Amino acid sequence: MKEALRIADLFREEQRLVGQTIRVQGWVRTRRDSKAGISFIEVNDGSCLKNLQVIVELARPELVETLRSVTTGAGIQVEGVLQASPGKGQSVEMHAASIRLFGGADPATYPLQKKRHSFEFLRQIGHLRPRTNTLGAVARVRSRLSFAVHQFFQERGFFYLHTPIITSSDCEGAGEVFRVTTPPSRDDVAAPEAGDANVPDFFGKPAYLTVSGQLQAEIYALALGRVYTFGPTFRAENSNTSRHLAEFWMVEPEMAFCDLQEDLEVAQALIKNLLQVVLTDCNEDLEFFSRFIEPGLRENLERTLQTPFETVTYTEAVEQLKKAGETFAFPVKWGMDLQAEHERFLTEKIFEKPVALVHFPRHLKPFYMRVNDDEKTVAAMDILVPGIGEIIGGSQREERLDMLLQQMELKGISTEDYRWYVELREFGSVPHAGFGLGLERLIQFATGLPNIREVIPFPRTPGHAYF
Ligand code: ATP
Ligand code: MN
Repeated sequence: MKEALRIADLFREEQRLVGQTIRVQGWVRTRRDSKAGISFIEVNDGSCLKNLQVIVELARPELVETLRSVTTGAGIQVEGVLQASPGKGQSVEMHAASIRLFGGADPATYPLQKKRHSFEFLRQIGHLRPRTNTLGAVARVRSRLSFAVHQFFQERGFFYLHTPIITSSDCEGAGEVFRVTTPPSRDDVAAPEAGDANVPDFFGKPAYLTVSGQLQAEIYALALGRVYTFGPTFRAENSNTSRHLAEFWMVEPEMAFCDLQEDLEVAQALIKNLLQVVLTDCNEDLEFFSRFIEPGLRENLERTLQTPFETVTYTEAVEQLKKAGETFAFPVKWGMDLQAEHERFLTEKIFEKPVALVHFPRHLKPFYMRVNDDEKTVAAMDILVPGIGEIIGGSQREERLDMLLQQMELKGISTEDYRWYVELREFGSVPHAGFGLGLERLIQFATGLPNIREVIPFPRTPGHAYF
């Protein structure tokens, strides 16, 4: 098949291409037949948001025959001359010399007709929704951001580390786990009773889908200096919210010879760098989100880039929330786990910018976080952003053997199971820190999409694992 021009490249070079015969391949967004004997086809190939307008003269019988099946959703190839367009909305258009129909789409049954569909409806047609403006734009932004994550770390001397997806570490305090110990033959036999002692575990002990690559990343940080993981993460939390998925992608840097302060600086630099990439490289899609999803989005992102994040201790934040005179569903008091409503109030109402909350009560956080001198708090940080709440969670890790053992004892973590983790404190232990950034929450922030189900191609949530 002769090579076609991507529509994104066509628009990029439209000045040079005017007058030339070109070929494009894509899907019909709409077709409109004018009384003047002309048909207008809007073709989109997914390479960019914009459609290419194709003009077909109905006076040509060989084209008219094909045109009958060129309806919304059809997959086609068109060849013709690119010309300056007299019409509004586009600077160039193609005058078709030939059209090839690959596959039609019956207008009576093709679900994506030219009207606004609800996001709920689009989720039911996950096989077709990337052909919409919004989901197509999200897919392009997500791809660019994922690449930017690698660029950010690679340019700063981090090594990309693949941590396991199946793991036997289960008590990191990061939420509910999915168990994956089914032996290969299990499908053939009757489902065993829960906890059936006669069913051997494939791995010899219970194993789970990872909730975080952090503990394994620590191993490599304490050998290679600076590493990051970027992969799928699983949580069986039964929370049907607009910011939780059962399967999501997490970016987790881990840095040796690093304290909480530097951890925060890297986190802030990462967020800003990623937003900058969207502003410079995803211009057209961002414009779309600013117009149709969240008015003022571009200005918000630009402002976020220019503002230093606010750093507040948990204790100060609790004081501020108490003083705010707001009635929360969960009344605020020191020692409580801040809820989404509190997080959002802090970042949206009190500070009106991203906020790094630091030094949380020790009892709220997992055993690996470094205990502060007050012995009541740990060197943890959560970064909150307007519209979403928590986007990053991180900490300086406990590098002192005696303190780590004390923490494990306190939280009932077996030193037997985590022997290797303890040994990292016995052999060449150094201060280190890291954090986890939820990719989907970042994309929500960058696109303004209110529901996390729209920013991942195939969302997994309670009751939903279709496609
Ligand atoms: P939350 O309190 O919002 O449930 P968390 O404190 O459990 O999040 P962490 O364990 O700190 O989350 O994970 C680090 C980051 O991973 C979070 O800041 C968030 O961006 C992302 N994240 C966590 N859980 C989910 C989820 N279920 N779906 C999507 N992203 C998530
Ligand atoms: Mn967290």
